[in-house]
Amino acid sequence: GFKMGIVGLPNVGKSTLFNALTRTAAAQAANFPFCTIEPNVGDVAVPDARLETLAKIAGSRQIVPTRMTFVDIAGLVKGASKGEGLGNQFLANIREVDAIAHVLRCFEDSDVTHVEGRVDPVSDAEVIETELMLSDLESIEKRRANLQRKLKGNDKEAQQQDRLLAQAQEAIENGQPARVVEVAEEDAKAWTMLQLLTTKPVLFVCNVAEAEAADGNDHSRRVAEMAAAQGNSHVIISARIEEEISQLDPEEAAMFLEEMGLEEPGLDRLIRAGYELLNLQTYFTVGPKEARAWTIREGTRAPQAAGVIHGDFEKGFIRAETIAYDDYVACKGEQGAKEAGKMRAEGKAYTVQDGDVVHFLFNT
Ligand code: GDP
Repeated sequence: GFKMGIVGLPNVGKSTLFNALTRTAAAQAANFPFCTIEPNVGDVAVPDARLETLAKIAGSRQIVPTRMTFVDIAGLVKGASKGEGLGNQFLANIREVDAIAHVLRCFEDSDVTHVEGRVDPVSDAEVIETELMLSDLESIEKRRANLQRKLKGNDKEAQQQDRLLAQAQEAIENGQPARVVEVAEEDAKAWTMLQLLTTKPVLFVCNVAEAEAADGNDHSRRVAEMAAAQGNSHVIISARIEEEISQLDPEEAAMFLEEMGLEEPGLDRLIRAGYELLNLQTYFTVGPKEARAWTIREGTRAPQAAGVIHGDFEKGFIRAETIAYDDYVACKGEQGAKEAGKMRAEGKAYTVQDGDVVHFLFNT
């Protein structure tokens, strides 16, 4: 599955947010109770209203949302790259995630200490980014030194790695994260394998006070500007509100949201934003037993999409019987879609589309 790491300075609301994410009814939806892999790792259901519609049409007994993993990565402080705080251990955790949700304190509260003594989310973001850049720089220098011997032996892979590391190094030495480097398609895989911290996509999470959850505040507006300038995205959330909602049953939660002037829980927006950040898409399998969502990267072909369900589905792939979500709904289900000529038989080269309702045929 895909992993988002929650990072931020101490006392910005990371744990509050993480607890809300993993305690919420959605996280515990369907038959998959929220599973604590480790105290700071949680699997969260990806909210998708289409699932319920599909289940209703097909009379499915169960709804199984797709899931995304969140990791609460505590311990980042100024100097982490030099081993302050949890330092290197923390940085290793970031290496393993696909994207970073960077929580920024945008709420004023004199009872909650700010490690830098003032509320300034843009400057906080720079503190963290600087630590990540310093850590990357150190690992780049180490790795380039280690590559020397192979480079003398004309090792093609080593040459590619060294060239990419040099580009990353140049960006960072110019004060830019490595994600600004434009990478050619043939280098994309090797680039990802470098696992540099500042190549991970970033979603800024503006943690605002309860009363500002709907519209944000001046702090969150500054973050929005910064994010836009960097080509990153942002969401506005009140971790406190999310914490409260996560303890309510669905009806109470709906009433509470209305009172706060919110259309949906901020967590839903956060999860969806993470989904978009990673270019993820959903396809469905629908039957009397269950209506189920599956996650793929945009651009995934049918056999690899089948492989998300089971490796054998990919190996023995024959074809994918596919109905677009809108057609499925308009035709009131599989039978109707079939009769209307809306069920397509797609082969190996088919790129699965978001919302496709798919039935895979495969050899065993
Ligand atoms: P972490 O160190 O980033 O994990 O931060 P925590 O989630 O532990 O939060 C630190 C403190 O800030 C706790 O006392 C929280 O209750 C408080 N806090 C978190 N979010 C908010 C918020 O939106 N408003 C206010 N006033 N306090 C908050």
